[in-house]
Amino acid sequence: MDTINRLKILSSQMDFEPAEDYGCPKINPSMRYSGFVHNAVMPNGKTIALLKTLLTSACERDCYYCPFRAGRNFRRATLKPAEMAQIFMSMHRAGIVEGLFLSSGLIGGGIRTQDNLLDAAEILREKLGFQGYLHLKIMPGAEQGQVERAMQLSNRVSLNLEAPNTKRLNILAPHKAFIDELIQPLRWVADIRNSTSNKTGWNKRWPSVATQFVVGGAGENDLELLTTTEYLYRDLGLKRAYYSPFRPVEDTPLENQPPTMLQRENRLYQASFLIRDYGFLMEELPFDNSGNLPKDTDPKLSWAQSNLRENPIEINFASKKELLHIPGIGPRGVSSILAARKQNRVKSLEDLRKIGINPVRAAPFILINGQKPSQQLNLF
Ligand code: SF4
Repeated sequence: MDTINRLKILSSQMDFEPAEDYGCPKINPSMRYSGFVHNAVMPNGKTIALLKTLLTSACERDCYYCPFRAGRNFRRATLKPAEMAQIFMSMHRAGIVEGLFLSSGLIGGGIRTQDNLLDAAEILREKLGFQGYLHLKIMPGAEQGQVERAMQLSNRVSLNLEAPNTKRLNILAPHKAFIDELIQPLRWVADIRNSTSNKTGWNKRWPSVATQFVVGGAGENDLELLTTTEYLYRDLGLKRAYYSPFRPVEDTPLENQPPTMLQRENRLYQASFLIRDYGFLMEELPFDNSGNLPKDTDPKLSWAQSNLRENPIEINFASKKELLHIPGIGPRGVSSILAARKQNRVKSLEDLRKIGINPVRAAPFILINGQKPSQQLNLF
């Protein structure tokens, strides 16, 4: 089979893997291979055409949820590192793709598989002069030196934890070691970034780091997922945790398990952003007795309904952290309020609207100069 057909097979098998932030799903019609090019939003807000693919869809492991597990009958393909680098660069030069997300099934162990990914990345950066966006996977069981090399070559590295702890991972992937194979490489990433500057890296900056959880496949609750997420954000400096709702795959041990509701995924993202960007503590998140978030209300609103109805926050004197707890006000809104307060006091809901804040969500939970502004709401 020729290289492009193998690439088509490999890339079409990557839909389950979130990468970066998804942009509008429109693909430039000039992209001939649009079946495997994804629009992805970069941290700077720019949308690029990303080739999301694998070096091989063969795998020697047997994770219970995974379409690539050993022994499952489907059409697999493999590209050598040099083939991958060459075909990607041809597509890049033709203007079809701007960036590459490269992962792999495990063949010959984590170390050997990581070497193959590094080979492809080194050819791209050092022989072919690729200067664009590269997201490299770190394989379970990779060595510390390989992790550092991946960091030197890429803009983002990621390693999928899949489950929040050892007990849950045993249900999804009993032959993976949660601490030794998965958490340890992420600790190395944090150590390397904290202890050295990236003098030898292709752009002299360390990459961002991400992970993915399969939600609902192992009977875990939201509290378990978010406890691990908080550790990753606060202690290991992760940029992004992805939550992929479990989908049963035919001919796997979990094929009869029900899929996870998308709403759970949404609530997990909302809660994880509250931890990462809004200064929320785990104990402030509105878990129910089963350790799950309410499905019908977003967690910030739920917290505010329990805590701010009787104790509204004074917009003109609140700290940054207090302002971030008000529904309808995000980090940008907080900056606008702090800037507005330096000029003049905020006097009305209309003043909030003028600085880009939708006051309807915030109004029940705030005071403006000591007054509840709820009665002004009918103006909106
Ligand atoms: S190691 Fe990765 S590719 Fe292989 S079966 Fe497990 S999750 Fe799937």
